[in-house]
Amino acid sequence: MAVAPEFMPRVRRAESMSRHTSWHVGGPAEVFFNPRDRTDLAAFLRSLAADTPVHWIGLGSNVLVRDGGLRGVVIATYGALERLERVAETMVFAEAGVACARIAKQCIRWGLGPAEFLAGIPGTLGGALAMNAGAFGGETWQHVVDVQTIDRRGVEHLRPAADFKVGYRNVNAPAPDEGFLAARLFFEKKPGANDADVRALLARRKATQPIGAWSCGSVFTNPPGDHAARLIEAAGLKGFRIGDAAVSQKHANFIVNYGAATAADVELLIEHIRATVARIHGVTLTPEVRILGERA
Ligand SMILES: Cc1cc2nc3c(=O)[nH]c(=O)nc-3n(C[C@H](O)[C@H](O)[C@H](O)COP(=O)(O)OP(=O)(O)OC[C@H]3O[C@@H](n4cnc5c(N)ncnc54)[C@H](O)[C@@H]3O)c2cc1C
Repeated sequence: MAVAPEFMPRVRRAESMSRHTSWHVGGPAEVFFNPRDRTDLAAFLRSLAADTPVHWIGLGSNVLVRDGGLRGVVIATYGALERLERVAETMVFAEAGVACARIAKQCIRWGLGPAEFLAGIPGTLGGALAMNAGAFGGETWQHVVDVQTIDRRGVEHLRPAADFKVGYRNVNAPAPDEGFLAARLFFEKKPGANDADVRALLARRKATQPIGAWSCGSVFTNPPGDHAARLIEAAGLKGFRIGDAAVSQKHANFIVNYGAATAADVELLIEHIRATVARIHGVTLTPEVRILGERA
């Protein structure tokens, strides 16, 4: 894939996506780009041929990149779009590369909430906007006033939250090709908020989930009125293993990589879980994780 000469020294070619995903699996990105700032990003997007596939990535905590890798370019926002400011009494401006945990912490300092739920989401705001990430009753889009996006030609847009169809771990954008640059988030004044609330939520999480293991969090969304973890556990799949990918013993909706799993192992396990749960319970689970790229 051709890259404009001014970007050649800064793009990484054949960058292994296993270095950028929390499952630590995945083949190479043809071109990997971490912009300096949004002007740099706009110039890079403008320089691409119109048919170049563009993939956005935050902290890679919800993607399975197949072993054959990703054609086109991967744009990584983490460490790049990092502005986080309070712009009005109850309004926060955050760029897409800001870690959700940082927003949670800073909101507590500003006496704003409820943002504690963001503390347990190990991704960026960009990923949280794409996924409508949520936990403990809180969801990202409950707080969005508007978002700044950027299109394939490097043109920025300001879009109100009402332009997006938002559901459970699902967001339909009016222009799906655009990437998120930033959002304005609305919170309430919460003067009593403190780090103890966050610590309590994280402790609850640690007691029930394999935090620290290589995973992508919940693999499947919960079907209406039930829990994917309950269905998987009741199907006898806890601990079931393909290669180095296994259903977590601690939380059945997590797949952990014990060290040498391939993306193919993880995907086969996902398919095995879906087929087994469908056979035993008559319920077809929907993956929450985004599966991308080519098979090896
Ligand atoms: C241990 C663990 C616990 C987790 N717990 C939760 C939880 O409680 N609740 C929850 O909702 N999720 C949870 N997750 C999943 C994950 O952290 C969230 O989905 C998170 O929002 C993903 O953010 P990310 O930056 O890692 O996105 P990535 O995984 O990098 O990307 C996810 C999707 O977002 C898109 N994307 C990323 N940035 C942009 C951008 N700037 N513009 C457009 N699209 C973009 C990607 O293309 C991809 O489709 C957990 C994951 C782990 C590993």
